[in-house]
Amino acid sequence: MNQYIEETKKGLVNTYNRFPVVLERGEGVYLYDTNGKKYLDFAAGIAVCGLGYGNQELNQTLKEQIDCLTHTSNLYYNTTCGKAATALRRISKMDRVFFTNSGTEAIEGALKAARKYAWKKGNGRYEFIAMEHSFHGRSIGAVSVTGSEAYRTPFEPLLPGVKFAEFNNLDSVKAQVTDKTCAIILEALQGEGGVNRASSEFMEGIRKLCDSEGILMICDEIQCGMGRTGEMFAWQNYGTKPDIMAMAKAIGSGLPVGAFAMTEEVAEYSLEPGDHGTTYGGNPLACAAVAKTVEIFEREDIAAHVQKMGAYLKEKLEELAAESEEVLECRGMGLIQGIKVKRPAGEIINAALDGGLIIISARDNVIRLVPPLIVEKEHIDEMIEKLKDLL
Ligand SMILES: *Cc1c(COP(=O)(O)O)cnc(C)c1O
Repeated sequence: MNQYIEETKKGLVNTYNRFPVVLERGEGVYLYDTNGKKYLDFAAGIAVCGLGYGNQELNQTLKEQIDCLTHTSNLYYNTTCGKAATALRRISKMDRVFFTNSGTEAIEGALKAARKYAWKKGNGRYEFIAMEHSFHGRSIGAVSVTGSEAYRTPFEPLLPGVKFAEFNNLDSVKAQVTDKTCAIILEALQGEGGVNRASSEFMEGIRKLCDSEGILMICDEIQCGMGRTGEMFAWQNYGTKPDIMAMAKAIGSGLPVGAFAMTEEVAEYSLEPGDHGTTYGGNPLACAAVAKTVEIFEREDIAAHVQKMGAYLKEKLEELAAESEEVLECRGMGLIQGIKVKRPAGEIINAALDGGLIIISARDNVIRLVPPLIVEKEHIDEMIEKLKDLL
């Protein structure tokens, strides 16, 4: 184990504070390290492994695709890209999809699509309104709309024309609107930002504001999408629909793939040949993963399972909160739940790891629970028992 750790530390740019474990394999909702120690996983590789580990149907599809063809570039058609797009269009209710390799690239594409739309309409709009405590990724464009100074400051000057408003405060958003506002970007449920869900009033208010002012609404569904909240995408919990949305994380069950999608109305005025592109994005292997993931999600009705398990998890967390002095608040939707605690979450997370439970944080004092979506009641009970000891 130490050898793997030393080699990694020596060779990589020092950007991660990794936990001192080397994970080797997974099965269902459990992970095993190189010493054979078993961990109950309530992080799912940061909300990526919705189907857990070792799904044989998915693995078989990927193996067959590897033997067939993994990459062609986007100069040619391939056999899985259209299928994956059809699947995402069906579950996202969007009309057109562009495949990327990551979440941050999906955000970049969404921002470019919005800028192109304004440019083609000739309305002179270029500003973005983003939310405080949002997280949209690490490229310069995505960092520019991320509502965390620690992530932005070292890389300034960033994209001009970005304004920040308070999440769940419609007046604060309205105060930032000008005749130059191009788009409003938000997460229906902020993941990294502390597991904060948008109120119905806020989501619906943003939609109305966008409609009345001629502004595009961009939803970042990278973390809260793909069944996580109990709907395929988090905005579907509200009476709204965005114009553009970004997806990634769970859509490929661990293969690096993201997408941004838009309505036909936006597509008509937006990106055209030459405006945008990617070498890997939407390659046959990534798209095989997306098509199969969506097929399994729909056939097994994973979203309905998330509603059931999410309600059970919430009930158990509230019991725990009532018993523990340490817990200040429980919040979330479906299988993304946050536990706000009195001390730095890191202390609890480190102790949990020692005890064979993988959990992560969201800002300083929030424990974030984002288990594989295939989690069952017995796993929730096991997690609660471990957490009880720690709190
Ligand atoms: C993870 C995440 C991103 C960035 O995705 P990457 O694949 O890490 O680039 C963007 N937005 C949200 C909401 C995320 O959770």
